[in-house]
Amino acid sequence: MRITCPYCGERDVREFSYLGGEPGARPDGMAADAHAMFEHVYQRPNPAGPIREFWYHTAGCHSWLIVERDTRTHAIAAVIAAANREVQS
Ligand SMILES: [Zn+2]
Repeated sequence: MRITCPYCGERDVREFSYLGGEPGARPDGMAADAHAMFEHVYQRPNPAGPIREFWYHTAGCHSWLIVERDTRTHAIAAVIAAANREVQS
């Protein structure tokens, strides 16, 4: 698999470290109940299809990236810098 870093260009996946799926928006800790916080911290979707996930360009520019990848085919639809992402709920 190859990932196109927005800063370095197309690179082998071995240059990157995988963090996991992008979590949704964090509930308001003071207003949310324990169940909502448990769901946010411990429960992660595991879809067969498109997913947004965090990758770190370890052997490159040391940037955090959001990769939109199809888990069935590993086809990558988009890569953006995590700093430029919009949080999805
Ligand atoms: Zn890079």
